[in-house]
Amino acid sequence: MRYLLVVMMVLGGAAQADTLIHAGRLVDVAEGKILSEQTIRIEGDRIAAIESGFVTDADAQVVDLSDATVMPGFMDMHVHLLQELNPPASYAEGFYMNSADVALRATVYARRTLEAGFTTVRDLGVRDIEAGFALRDAINQGIVPGPRIFAAGKSIATTGGHADPTNGLREDLRGDPGPKDGVINGPEEAFKAVRQRYKDGSDVIKLTVTGGVLSLAKSGDNPQFTDVELEAIMAAAQDYNFVVAVHAHGAEGMKRAIRAGVHSVEHGTYMDAEAMELMKERGTWYVPTISAGKWVADLSQQEGKLPDVVRPKAAAVGPQIQNTFAEAWQRGVPIAFGTDAGVSPHGANGREFTFMVEAGMPVMEALRAATVNAATLLRVEDEIGQLAAGYYADVVAVRGDPFSDVTLLESPEFVMKNGDVVVNAAQ
Ligand SMILES: [Zn+2]
Repeated sequence: MRYLLVVMMVLGGAAQADTLIHAGRLVDVAEGKILSEQTIRIEGDRIAAIESGFVTDADAQVVDLSDATVMPGFMDMHVHLLQELNPPASYAEGFYMNSADVALRATVYARRTLEAGFTTVRDLGVRDIEAGFALRDAINQGIVPGPRIFAAGKSIATTGGHADPTNGLREDLRGDPGPKDGVINGPEEAFKAVRQRYKDGSDVIKLTVTGGVLSLAKSGDNPQFTDVELEAIMAAAQDYNFVVAVHAHGAEGMKRAIRAGVHSVEHGTYMDAEAMELMKERGTWYVPTISAGKWVADLSQQEGKLPDVVRPKAAAVGPQIQNTFAEAWQRGVPIAFGTDAGVSPHGANGREFTFMVEAGMPVMEALRAATVNAATLLRVEDEIGQLAAGYYADVVAVRGDPFSDVTLLESPEFVMKNGDVVVNAAQ
């Protein structure tokens, strides 16, 4: 199969002809329905109308997807575009890569993500905020191709916590990082850290409320924020209208965060029944990242790949996530799609659909998790996540029927973002 990348950088203000997409099957994710023979009329970067039948128009350009299944652009609520886990080498990167190196490499990961049909992502934490925001802004300006990014900037942790950037360093390099570097202790520092993210230009807030798998620290699941700290974070986040995502493996840390009112729980590995009920009650989204679990579990089987302190955590946490997801789905926990790509490879984001369906979720629900649900979590549900008039023209298509073969979603044959064609295998 030959993919042709057409990067259209429309920097000038020249009037563009309308584009008409002839969609053989159009997936209405909001209603959970499949409509046949529809035309998507695109003006500039937005959808102007959905018309029934294959409409033509003398002035408009037609994209023929009459034999394809056409869906809204996919949204991944958990990626890290500045990195891709390649252990053991990736642990030392911070010592030899400058911001410019990190940013340039990230442009490749961003393009792979977009070509895989993911037109919007939430980047949940970077070590290098300069590179992270530069990537987001360059994509928005049309300088490099990539998905629309909602960026957290630096994650917020407590001392020695999962996102403490100095974990595992030798004594004289460790220092004592504070709110500016995303490390807080106590409510005053919690406020300062959120305000610092606002000043940096973050779009969302990310906390690491329990231990994590890949950090150079012993526990993968202990609670790492107090109730008082979480309440302060949420009060500050509300002042600035931030959506708050929390990395959590252990149940106790997760439940404290859910009670404090966070908006999404990431990974959720040891989520218990009480946590699931709380999430349903509070409308807290679960972002499962099964892909990352599978990937680190595989790495833990290989000799010499992961550091000694990480390997047992990866072996324990990895395989559990898909089971937790299956139970959360059955119990009715609200689910938004997320992979943790950057731990797993960029561009393989669509594999998460397969893992979700393997665990018992219908394909339509998996698609909703990656479109309307994700858009609702990001509070952009009126502009992104559906094929409907007024929405951004983010369109993905596969030839064949993904409802009978979900793996088709792993490599779309057509991708459009903001009305610009990014991938069109037919050309
Ligand atoms: Zn992550």
